[in-house]
Amino acid sequence: MRLLLFGPPGAGKGTQARKLVDRYTLTQIATGNIIRAAMKNDTPVGREAKSYVEQGELVPDDVVRKLAEGAIADEGYDDFILDGYPRTLQQATWLTTFLSEHDASLQAVLSLEVDDEEIVDRLSKRRVHAETGENYHLDVNPPPADVDEELIVQRPDDKPETVRNRLSVYRDQTEPLKSYYKERDLLVPVDGTGTPDEVHERIADTLTTLA
Ligand code: AMP
Repeated sequence: MRLLLFGPPGAGKGTQARKLVDRYTLTQIATGNIIRAAMKNDTPVGREAKSYVEQGELVPDDVVRKLAEGAIADEGYDDFILDGYPRTLQQATWLTTFLSEHDASLQAVLSLEVDDEEIVDRLSKRRVHAETGENYHLDVNPPPADVDEELIVQRPDDKPETVRNRLSVYRDQTEPLKSYYKERDLLVPVDGTGTPDEVHERIADTLTTLA
């Protein structure tokens, strides 16, 4: 399978990607995770990306392109689910060309649909495990009691001012990709509300209709 999970920040892309990885033979390729790891390890890419990420801006296209294409090549151009890439029309056109050059076009773009109010609530209540990257939501999916509280942190870019900027960047630069994929008959909207398991079952049902 070659899938893309699409949606605004906080739509549940990361959570759903991990659930799909647990159920199918797939690898999650999340440019946000790759970038955060690069920042943590203070690599040249991490240093370049840092100020963009901290302000809720997009990292320049050519930087992210290399990360994404490298990760896809590492998977042998198959059995992956993209999460958070592409995020601009330029990235999408590069991706289409790159995948078609390797006979590996996308099979579906699963678009998680969640309204703005819920997104702001989810992001403000999102917490992550500093070491494993596991996501939690303070009300719906709180960290288990046996996890060291000090390791449960808020992503710096989940602070309210940055969230507002990320959402406006999404509307301006990323949401137009829906039309791009709709025109190519790849866009599959999925209701992203409800519990993570409910959304996962909806996605799984969708995948059986694609197969
Ligand atoms: P995420 O974890 O997907 O929310 O990504 C966190 C941050 O990493 C984003 O707010 C951007 O600054 C950067 N980022 C991740 N993926 C991309 C991408 N495809 N294009 C540009 N910037 C990205």
